Amino acid sequence: ILPSTTTEAEQEVLFPYQDPSRTTVERVADLLDRMTVEEKVGQMLQLDARDDLRDHVLRRHVGSILHTSPERILEANRLTAETRLRIPLLVGEDCIHGHSFWPGATIYPTQLGMAASWDAELIERVARATAEEVAVTGVHWTFSPVLCIARDLRWGRISETFGEDPFLIGELASAMVRGYQGEGLDDPTAILATAKHFAGYSETQGGRDASEADISRRKLRSWFLPPFERVAREGCRTFMLGYQSTDGVPITINDWLLSEVLRGEWGYTGTLITDWDNVGRMVWEQRIQPDYAHAAAAAVTAGNDMVMTTPMFFEGALEAVERGMLAEDAFDAAVARILTLKFDLGLFEDPRLPSPRLDEVVGSAAHAELNLEIARRSIVLLENDGTLPLAATPASPLRVALVGPLADDAQTQLGDWAGGSGQAGWLDGQPREMITTVFDGLRAIDGWTVEYARGADILTLEDDPRGATFPDGQPRPPVVVPSPPSAELLAEAVAAAEASDVVVAVVGDRIELVGEGRSTATLELIGGQNALLDALIETGKPVVVVLLASKPLVLPPSAAKAAAVLWAANPGMLGGQAIAEIIAGRVEPSGRLPISFARHVGQQPTYYNQIRGQHGDRYADLTQAPAWAFGQGLSYTTVEYADLALATDTLGVGDEIVAEVTVRNTGDRPVRETVQVYVRDKITSVSWADIELKAYRQVDLAPGETARVSLRLPVAECTIVDSAGDRHVEPGEFELLVGPSSRETDLLSAGFVLR
Ligand code: BGC
Repeated sequence: ILPSTTTEAEQEVLFPYQDPSRTTVERVADLLDRMTVEEKVGQMLQLDARDDLRDHVLRRHVGSILHTSPERILEANRLTAETRLRIPLLVGEDCIHGHSFWPGATIYPTQLGMAASWDAELIERVARATAEEVAVTGVHWTFSPVLCIARDLRWGRISETFGEDPFLIGELASAMVRGYQGEGLDDPTAILATAKHFAGYSETQGGRDASEADISRRKLRSWFLPPFERVAREGCRTFMLGYQSTDGVPITINDWLLSEVLRGEWGYTGTLITDWDNVGRMVWEQRIQPDYAHAAAAAVTAGNDMVMTTPMFFEGALEAVERGMLAEDAFDAAVARILTLKFDLGLFEDPRLPSPRLDEVVGSAAHAELNLEIARRSIVLLENDGTLPLAATPASPLRVALVGPLADDAQTQLGDWAGGSGQAGWLDGQPREMITTVFDGLRAIDGWTVEYARGADILTLEDDPRGATFPDGQPRPPVVVPSPPSAELLAEAVAAAEASDVVVAVVGDRIELVGEGRSTATLELIGGQNALLDALIETGKPVVVVLLASKPLVLPPSAAKAAAVLWAANPGMLGGQAIAEIIAGRVEPSGRLPISFARHVGQQPTYYNQIRGQHGDRYADLTQAPAWAFGQGLSYTTVEYADLALATDTLGVGDEIVAEVTVRNTGDRPVRETVQVYVRDKITSVSWADIELKAYRQVDLAPGETARVSLRLPVAECTIVDSAGDRHVEPGEFELLVGPSSRETDLLSAGFVLR
């Protein structure tokens, strides 16, 4: 016990663990030796900072807190000074597209929006800038990135993903982890990244959140695990275990995934954190443990480190020790890993409290500039009959009717995990003046007059009669009631359209239709929006549809007559400016779909890399083809691909595939073209995806410019996973497919043979 008369400076060097000149390993061993079993159990807990902080820190000895308002961070740290060993707290938060719950932080496009840039380097810069903002506020750990593969589009968490392709997810997630963790944890701007939700959480049934993930080990190894394996090997410091169970076993106690695969095969030495109350859920939700002692014993035995928001883990684990279900040293490995993070971050020397530089860094002008850059890159032009870009000359100014319920809805534009999305009680949105809506963006264009009409409402909310919270205390979303079309709003919108040269209709979804527990049964535009689009198209004016939607939605049949369709997944604070600049042709559209769009909800799933062998390619009543496929996206110019050539068409397993393709900008505007490289293994020993993305390159071409683009890909990437779950290359015939999207008709092909 520390003598109470020592000064802080003296305390710092009383024990070896307080001596910064010692190695982390030495310091961890010394501290672990001094901890009681209660302190060890508490160290494994991460509790909600909105609850009783005194109780968390002083009675339960928590190692970490999350959801900490600006004031609570300071209070929690003051409390640690009253503890026996003065172990600093790790502060975690969901800063998943910017520092989501900090008033005035820079909020970027959602992960799905950023993924449309296909630009790993840019995403790394966003993560770096996010880390800078997060770090100065006293938060050390972000629960980001999400590596879940988007499957059923009805799932409420599609917007948190990088889309549907494992290779693209791996590229972008790896970049994000590098950005967060920076040059090393001793850099004061570095924060811990979290790869989540390990693994298979997105394989939902009916798109329903946290349903049992009915998924084989082979399927996990084939598509779901590779992005996680990549970041595990690259040093992502923490992994979050999802909510799902597979084969009846919650991931929290899935020995195969945790011990054999993650810790064993991949040699992962980082720290695991459960998702929200996973340990408690085994008792009250999944009902596979009779009480908290059993649940805690199972979680510890399975190798969990940090237990998120199961306060009763504390009592349960101690009871498990008392009853002989856990040995007293059963917590040591987990506690050592948690302490390692704290020593590596240097928290014993500097707990990284909110910094005096906070105002300079959070929401800085440099970050706004970066935000605008990625917002521009996140927007995908899906259709264009030549109406876009809209031009105006001083002689003929343009009259724009801006219509739709999302044209000027600043908070909705930010999407989930962003202040207005409900997870944090201490703010209900971000400062309006930091956000440009489409309305703001269009009004800033010289020579245009913009008349705005809402045109439709989307929804109203009713309280769920079952109460405002779930049994675990998490908020229960209210019930969404779609708004009926309003004759009055429609009439206003039609009048505005008729008095204009062009209509810009901003439609999509709202936060009430997005997120955990908010999966949707349909993918259609909710409320009066379809009627609005029908009425606008009916006017005969050119209609530019801006789909401001967290995930791919289905447009009504009338939208086939739209002049143009743009998709902006929640595009962040400067999304409105970016959209307006693209519409006005000041910026070239360059986004490419990281996810396929369905034509109808009944087509789920629509991802491109499905296993071949289905009979036919249509339903009796509808094609199976998506509305827009993975990789698609237009520019304001035309691009031709020609002369795909392989350096050699016979290769060995250790070789590299070397190819070239000619890409020509045949129009009169510049383009950033995303040259996509897919591989088809023509005959496989087990069924396999017909084609898979294996590489891509982005090239900038001036009008008329031609480039010979070189493409390289290790043959070792051309693998399949066999029925035993082993990944390997199978010699035989392959095709290299290169082009602007995953659509077969867009791809040039060159055959090669592996010996
Ligand atoms: C989500 C996680 C998140 C955690 C903490 C959970 O409900 O599934 O993604 O990190 O809450 O907010």
